[in-house]
Order: sequence, then structure tokens, then C-alpha cells
Amino acid sequence: MDYIVRATAANGFIRAFAANTHDMVEKAREIHQTTPVATAALGRLMTAGAMMGVMMKGEDDLLSLTVRSEGPLEGMTVTADSKGNVKGFPYNPNCPLLVNSRHKLDVGSVVGRGMLTVVKDLGLKEPYSSQVDLQSGEIGDDLAYYFTLSEQTPSSVGVGVLVNADESVQQAGGFILQLMPGFDDAVVDQLEANLSGVSSVTEMLSVGMTPEEILEKLLGNLGLEINDTVPCAFYCNCSRERVTKALLSVGKKEIRSMIAEQKAAELLCDFCNSKYVFTVEDLQQLL
Ligand code: ZN
Repeated sequence: MDYIVRATAANGFIRAFAANTHDMVEKAREIHQTTPVATAALGRLMTAGAMMGVMMKGEDDLLSLTVRSEGPLEGMTVTADSKGNVKGFPYNPNCPLLVNSRHKLDVGSVVGRGMLTVVKDLGLKEPYSSQVDLQSGEIGDDLAYYFTLSEQTPSSVGVGVLVNADESVQQAGGFILQLMPGFDDAVVDQLEANLSGVSSVTEMLSVGMTPEEILEKLLGNLGLEINDTVPCAFYCNCSRERVTKALLSVGKKEIRSMIAEQKAAELLCDFCNSKYVFTVEDLQQLL
């Protein structure tokens, strides 16, 4: 079962999250039938989204992460709430497999240049929205850049996905470490030394390290305190009722013309591929 660990270190000057997202990413792969590199890209963004979701305080707060880019993946959208529910889809699930020199899935190349948009609906009048240029398309770097630039929070983000030979997900997870205002340089030095001592999140995942073990490795000598864990999962909240509302919002005129053409309406949820069919009789009832 997937979960997110929330922790602090350095007397609260470091805020930390780590997550195991294997089942969530595997579910996304099954739904979207993604190629391995698309699985890795989407899985990294979903893993970050899961951790960023639980950073929000409110019950109904909603986060969305959108990548629009020039590479063959074209982009992806992930949304997460504060309770560990995450959903997402890549714009091109059939994105071709590119392998880089170290035989890793080359997420940066298939994402390519582009923008990352972060929107947080915190129940205020206007949702918070911020956009940054992608730095490498590797997702972890891009989110670290977003936190530093847009939220003025120096952060280290490691997200990774390993795929089996049969294309199923072998490991997925990651961490986010953030420096809170007032931190001192000694903490930064130690943190940098710790981070330079680990090769990559993928390597930690490949030996089966749990989120707690990842945090212990990164923050064990900085007074790590694990606060709580939150279960997380792929979850889509679409329903016939929501889709009906969307259909009504296209307007009576359109619905009338569908009826006149004796054409049933088919709506597909981008996030979970659920298909909702409205027969001509259904459409007449709607009117
Ligand atoms: Zn759905």
C-alpha cells in the first residue's frame, strides 16, 4: 500500500516528505497503457503531486500540476488533494522509448523544453497559480526550481520510477526536502553532504528502501523526526453526475442538434478513461 511520510529535521528548519507510490503509478500505467518512458514521466509528476498535495492544509484544497512541452510526450496533467488522492494523464501515452547513455529511461528528452504550471485551489477567491520554465524536463529538478523561485523555499526534489521488462512498474517513489526560513549555513552544509552521498532516488528505490529509510539516509544525522504517514492512491472522482453537468454546460443548442442528428453523446474522462454514454433518450430527458 502506498503512503507518504511527513517529517522534520534540524529542529524544524527542514521539512521533509517521502513517498512510496508504486501502486498509484502502476494503476496509471494500466489505465493509460503508457510506454515505459511515459510511465516514468507521469509517475515522477504524480509522486511529487502526492507529496505536494499533503502540504496543503484544507480538506477541500486541490493542487494541479501541468507540464506543457515540446518533446514527444507533449505534456501531462496531475491533480492531487490534501488527503493523498492523486490522478493524472500524459498527453501522448504512446510516447516512444528513448534510452540514454546510462540505460535509464530518458524522461528529460521526451518531456523536452516547456513550462510547468502549478495551481492551488485553497478555497480562496482566486486560486494560486504560478508558472516556471522547465529546467531539464526530468521533473525533480523542475519542481525544485519551482519551489525555490515561486515559493521562495529552497528545496531538493527526488522522484523516480523503475519499470520491469514486461513494462509494469517495479518501483516508484521519491522525496522532497525543504529549508524553512531562518535555517543556518551549517544545516545547509550537512544537507548538501548528505545529498551528495546518495547517487539517485532511483538507486535507493531499486534496493527497496522504504520512505522512512530514504529519510533516515538523507536526514538521519540532522535530527530526523517522523511526524505521520498518509496513505495515497490513484483516485478519480469523476461520475455520471459530474459528466452530466459538463454536458449541460455545452448548452441546450448543442444537445438539441445531437438529438436532431440522432447521435448519442460519448464523453471520456481524461484522467481515468471512464466512458460515459448518453443516448438520444438520455439527451431528451436532460432537456
Ligand atoms: Zn475519471
